[in-house]
Amino acid sequence: MSKINLLGFTLERLKSEFLRNGFTILDAKRVFPWIHTKLARSFDVMSDVPLRVRENLKEKFSLDRPECLVLQKSVDGTQKALLKLEDGNYVETVLIPEETRATVCVSSQIGCAIGCKFCHTGTQRFVRNLSSSEIISQIFFWKDVFGKPITNVVFMGMGEPLLNFENLSDVLKLLLDEKAHNFSRTKITISTSGIVGDALIELAKFRVKLAISLHASNDEKRSCIMPINKKYDIKTLFKAAREYLRNSGTDRVTFEYLLLKGVNDEDSDATELSKLLRSIPCKVNLIVYNDWPGSPFVGSGRNRADEFSRILLSKGVRAIIRKSRGDDILAACGQLKTQASAVRADKEAGIKK
Ligand code: SAH
Ligand code: SF4
Repeated sequence: MSKINLLGFTLERLKSEFLRNGFTILDAKRVFPWIHTKLARSFDVMSDVPLRVRENLKEKFSLDRPECLVLQKSVDGTQKALLKLEDGNYVETVLIPEETRATVCVSSQIGCAIGCKFCHTGTQRFVRNLSSSEIISQIFFWKDVFGKPITNVVFMGMGEPLLNFENLSDVLKLLLDEKAHNFSRTKITISTSGIVGDALIELAKFRVKLAISLHASNDEKRSCIMPINKKYDIKTLFKAAREYLRNSGTDRVTFEYLLLKGVNDEDSDATELSKLLRSIPCKVNLIVYNDWPGSPFVGSGRNRADEFSRILLSKGVRAIIRKSRGDDILAACGQLKTQASAVRADKEAGIKK
């Protein structure tokens, strides 16, 4: 029987799991900080836990990090890791070191069911949700590898975080817990394609930053590139976003807007966008499109992006052009797609030979 990985267990869950397996609440209280603040990789080092208990813990539980199959480093310092999960699936995670901060970009699912037309991950079939241990193990992985403090976490890797809310919720509890990873809520951003409903309402309780992938200023265009818009149209989405601001007490929403040549980057799109955004405190991240093999889109050039942002600014909308990091290693947004299919194809090719 495979051992239960404890990395993603909140203290409450750890206590009940321990009780079910014949350990005590005190054991859980002692083990918890070893896992999250001392980043212990084995039970052996937990010097305040009785030796006999440690031996028994080893039988049932693990603190294993996922195995790293490929670690790529971009010329700009961004690093991308391909991690192998216990069931043989793969997931990618990215570290973006900058002068004053280091951001980890976390994946929440294997593949994605939303199927946005511009997204490399969206072209991969949805496999499954990641467990809370698998999500937070990406933070553990970078803490181990990087050796310096991780300051920010963005849920902008593979998958739609709000469709894996139960596990996301445990991870947020651990990241925000001052007795665990102790991140400030202002340093955590959840990015969603615009899933409206209970998960978003619950998320507001964590008071973390919300980013919404908007990418178009009217329903017709948005539905073409993001099929989720047919379920939750812009009006519904904005109502939910305003409610999020009210309930979370956060001051603004970030809208992500990809500039796609001839699709959503005309002057009239910028004007329409500025009108739409009047109804909500926000800022806009204009994202330069990251190309991927077989993509049906072309990104707008730098001049178009500058002009688009100038129009927004002239209408009073805070807009910045987000510089792309790690695009030489396909680590930039929307380019994360596990090499699982490639690995599988290699294997099949090997068998056929
Ligand atoms: N599923 C969530 C979070 C992951 S995607 C979401 O969609 O918000 C993170 C960001 O990358 C989103 O804003 C997404 O729209 C953007 N993105 C997707 N494909 C991209 C591409 N090819 N180039 C640049 N950004 C992309
Ligand atoms: Fe999924 Fe986000 Fe990619 Fe859309 S942009 S397919 S929601 S990961």
